[in-house]
Amino acid sequence: KKEENQVKKRRIVLVPVPAQGHVTPIMQLGKALHSKGFSITVVQTQYNRVSSSKDFSDFHFLTIPDSLTDSDLKSLGALPFMLKINQVCEESFKHCLSQLLQKQGDDDIACIVYDEYMYFSQAAAMAFQIPSVVFSTLPLSHAAFVCRSVLSKVNAESFLLDMKDPETQEQVFPGLDPLRYKDLPTSAFGPLESIIKLYCNAVNIQTSSAVIINSASCLESSSLAQLQRKLQVPVYPIGPLHIAASASSSLLEEDRSCIEWLDKQKPSSVIYISLGSLALLQTKDMLEMAWGLSNSNQPFLWVIRPGSVPGSEWTESLPEEFNKLVSERGYIVKWAPQIEVLRHPAVGGFWSHCGWNSTLESIGEGVPMICKPFTGDQRVNARYVESVWRIGVLLEGELDKGTVESSVKRLTVDDEGAEMRKRAFDLKEKLEASARSGGSSCSSLDDFVNSLTTP
Ligand code: UDP
Repeated sequence: KKEENQVKKRRIVLVPVPAQGHVTPIMQLGKALHSKGFSITVVQTQYNRVSSSKDFSDFHFLTIPDSLTDSDLKSLGALPFMLKINQVCEESFKHCLSQLLQKQGDDDIACIVYDEYMYFSQAAAMAFQIPSVVFSTLPLSHAAFVCRSVLSKVNAESFLLDMKDPETQEQVFPGLDPLRYKDLPTSAFGPLESIIKLYCNAVNIQTSSAVIINSASCLESSSLAQLQRKLQVPVYPIGPLHIAASASSSLLEEDRSCIEWLDKQKPSSVIYISLGSLALLQTKDMLEMAWGLSNSNQPFLWVIRPGSVPGSEWTESLPEEFNKLVSERGYIVKWAPQIEVLRHPAVGGFWSHCGWNSTLESIGEGVPMICKPFTGDQRVNARYVESVWRIGVLLEGELDKGTVESSVKRLTVDDEGAEMRKRAFDLKEKLEASARSGGSSCSSLDDFVNSLTTP
């Protein structure tokens, strides 16, 4: 009992990146740690704040003063915005911490868990001699880590030149089979120099005492072992967090009417399409998708975020005939309750940009995928979905309606799709087992907690 009380007194400070794909898993981590007896403080920027919903009623939320806002994001662009956050937040975060320490009295802070892209947190933790822990929301720990290390060292100019050569692009990256040069996580959100800078800082974990990863050993056991050998500090693969600790932290409003629509569809017949919270879709690709879906004859649920098609507010660029088809065989929403959708028996496949959360959620529900990565690590994830786990189809190059049609049919109609679904289902069971008591992710979380509570 005494031990439990001691744990209860300890607080963990979380520092999320203000973007949906990063907020979701760190808030789930907060939930998991809260259930182990820790108090949780979430320190946020002024932009994209999570609100204290019923899932987080016991959490304490703080805003870093003078941090960047929505208009800074618009004027800077996503990558320079991330770099700027790290520049401007260090001092104000220190201020925040000192106030927290004063207020909290004897309620000492066990550690600061920061998203790897909020690396300014390290200096603040050092200043107050609080242990800091890196949280990697990105996937495929070793592959992603090596890719980022590789990119953090390249010379941007010569790398770009090499990548212009189509033969180099297709070559398998040494030691990272099945990844090719073209799968390296460069970014659509800013110049190569910015991503190199961001990676340099993110892979340099300096004084942090551990790395927590939202992945599971059944997905990448040898890769995790390799990563552990490379890093000097313990690595805790504790994912997928959405299985271990479900908690809703959607920054946009979910349109639940699509669940009623799904209720009326046949089992495993619907293709669910969502490109996550940031990816953009060119009008020409959107039209190829629309006609491919139309020709496939399969029902579809399509998430189109307002503003995600440059030049349009929402769906104006879809032709009138297609809108007619939507009323017969499709459904379009601005934002969906994604996990619930993937869990629905009517869903037979997921057309995804392969963000890591979406990939984990799809595997977690045993749903095969059509992968059309947009940027960054999504290409790495997509390659694994197709070549390692063999639970999806990877679309490369220009989108055309013929490929869209055949991919949708491969997943929802052909035997090949049934086989992928079976493999996805097997992986789902393994993931669930790893999150259960005695499973690898569950034990890894316990190990992390023990590392904090034993002096
Ligand atoms: N998501 C959602 N509703 C949607 C689309 C996405 O709730 O209509 C969630 C999805 O479940 C996932 C997150 O948004 O947890 C997207 O994260 P991911 O890493 O897949 O992609 P990102 O947005 O970071 O590119």
